Amino acid sequence: MDNDFPYRYKIEVDKATRAKEPKQTAVIDQTGCTGCEACIAFCPVDCIEIVPGPEHPDFMKLVEVDLARCIGCQLCARYCPWETIDMWPYEEGLEMAPRLTIRSLVYDYDPEQMHESAESRS
Ligand code: SF4
Ligand code: SF4
Repeated sequence: MDNDFPYRYKIEVDKATRAKEPKQTAVIDQTGCTGCEACIAFCPVDCIEIVPGPEHPDFMKLVEVDLARCIGCQLCARYCPWETIDMWPYEEGLEMAPRLTIRSLVYDYDPEQMHESAESRS
């Protein structure tokens, strides 16, 4: 992982690391994610992970990008049928990620910086 990467992994990731920091990164706005998993099939580096849904773990799953492995190829953003993946300049994307994330299994985000979850709104 890059030395100045701001987030710690919550999980063990046994996948290849990228060669260099990308110019941009994909960030999923989980409020619009249906869990259709279409993006996963297009990701050339297998860095999109499935996250159990916030209300029922087996229903309405979400996905999130492993930001430390995304190479910024844009394929997921191009093919998401719900247009809920945006490409961000790398540093900006790292900053935006917790705000667009309802639930993360990959990173130890500060809950106060995370998007207010559907559970806490109800
Ligand atoms: S393609 Fe879009 S809606 Fe489907 S799982 Fe990926 S981010 Fe979510
Ligand atoms: S931009 Fe490319 S590498 Fe990054 S998550 Fe999307 S498909 Fe994967």
